[in-house]
Amino acid sequence: MKKIYLVLIISAALIAGLAAGTFGLSRFVDEDASLPLLKITGDVRNVKKITGLNSIKDMQAGEGSIKNNRVAYLKQVIESAEPFSKYNSVIITSYDGTAVRLDYDDVKMSRLALDPQDGWNVMDPDHPAGISIEMIEEIILVSQNTDSCYEYGMDIISTDKNILRITPGQAYGKTSEYLKREGDVYTGGNAGERQASMYSVEKILKIEDLLGYEVFGSIVVMGRDGNILYADHSGYIELEDNHFNYADSRAEGKIVGDTAGIIIDAPSGSIMDAYHDLKYHIHRGEKVMLIILDGLGYHQYIYAVDNGYIDFMAEASSVKPAVSVFRPVTNAGLAAMFTGKPPAYSGIDDHDKRESLIPTVFASVIEDNTKTLYVEGDIQIIKTEIEPELNTDRDRDGDRDDDILEYSISNMDKGFELMVVHFHSIDDMGHNFGDITGETMDEIKRLDMYVKELVSMWEGYVVVTADHGMHSTEDGGSHGEFRYEDMIVPYIVFCPGDKDYLKE
Ligand SMILES: [Zn+2]
Ligand SMILES: [Zn+2]
Repeated sequence: MKKIYLVLIISAALIAGLAAGTFGLSRFVDEDASLPLLKITGDVRNVKKITGLNSIKDMQAGEGSIKNNRVAYLKQVIESAEPFSKYNSVIITSYDGTAVRLDYDDVKMSRLALDPQDGWNVMDPDHPAGISIEMIEEIILVSQNTDSCYEYGMDIISTDKNILRITPGQAYGKTSEYLKREGDVYTGGNAGERQASMYSVEKILKIEDLLGYEVFGSIVVMGRDGNILYADHSGYIELEDNHFNYADSRAEGKIVGDTAGIIIDAPSGSIMDAYHDLKYHIHRGEKVMLIILDGLGYHQYIYAVDNGYIDFMAEASSVKPAVSVFRPVTNAGLAAMFTGKPPAYSGIDDHDKRESLIPTVFASVIEDNTKTLYVEGDIQIIKTEIEPELNTDRDRDGDRDDDILEYSISNMDKGFELMVVHFHSIDDMGHNFGDITGETMDEIKRLDMYVKELVSMWEGYVVVTADHGMHSTEDGGSHGEFRYEDMIVPYIVFCPGDKDYLKE
């Protein structure tokens, strides 16, 4: 063991010598601009770029410091980058391409020092392996779990499974790919024997490298920037500081920045299809109705069919899973259905956005003089070119959907060519009771009957879909995350000729 350790110290000395030769001693003067950049990155909220002594002047380690106070406590430097989770290790990479992975507890009392010859380095009398890392380029934090880091991680899902949630730090730490393990270092020291592993750094990988098996078929990649990329699996996941990007060279080098998630074996349908289906039928002179069942996930639909809560919708001409948009919340979902474009185009990517940057389907129906009725609950959710007809709980039974149904039925014979009807109670029940519970299923059963009433009265095509789904939480349900329960919804089409069974 001691032999390996000695070899590494010797090689570290060589590396330091080489590095000093490469960079030139003159680079390490006291002018901040000429100092090598050190980044604190990985599972942090604010990637910290330490360009010089000024960046750490409030964290100086005080007496006992080395070389004119050019020393800060590593713990303070790391915490200034705001780690977003409880982390259990740090990866320290060097400009020479090597890296060492250490337990955070082992280095948090270490000091970060600037040396005129070796650049930034970690000094710890109890941890010789730390000292062997000189010319430090990055300190990467690696979370021990993914519970509190949803905003920064990436999810890989399929239509019916949440396959992997991984943080950038964990991806750096995936020893098989990002860090090629090159050997172990064992040290004695005052705190007992400790181990550090040597790695080399690699920042590009493929989906299969994360999953451990090959992926076939089409994928959908969605970014927090609101972009959506439909692709095959040939692109690359790139690690950039505290987030992922997805790049596909065959899709004209298109990049989905700050990738929120990837759907593998992705359904071909999208809720954006609603826009195109409505326009298609309108242009052919066919009547069409869009029924939005707020918060009905595809998994809830399947459960409801399997357990006898849905009879009618299961008989539709076509039932398919479809992909919602990120973030899967009402505003973003409605905007996607109404504009046919991803959130990056409409600008409506979350529940605090209301105004679309691009026209909705209602603009074109105004142009075409299509007689249109848009029936909503008690508030207008996003701005549309045609004002929705709002419905309060007129009969005061604690429910708006019966009022929405009643209003829609009372307008059935008024010659509308396009109707959009937005029901809300499945989402309400999902939030209160969870996605797969008796209460929510009873509500789905009731809405199945509402759909039946509307379809049986409507002389035209009917599309039934949802803005997003719902997943269970400790106290009910929620949505807005990149997970199959929220992202995959049913897309159901009734054709006018296929309604014979209604006459029974
Ligand atoms: Zn909703
Ligand atoms: Zn909701």
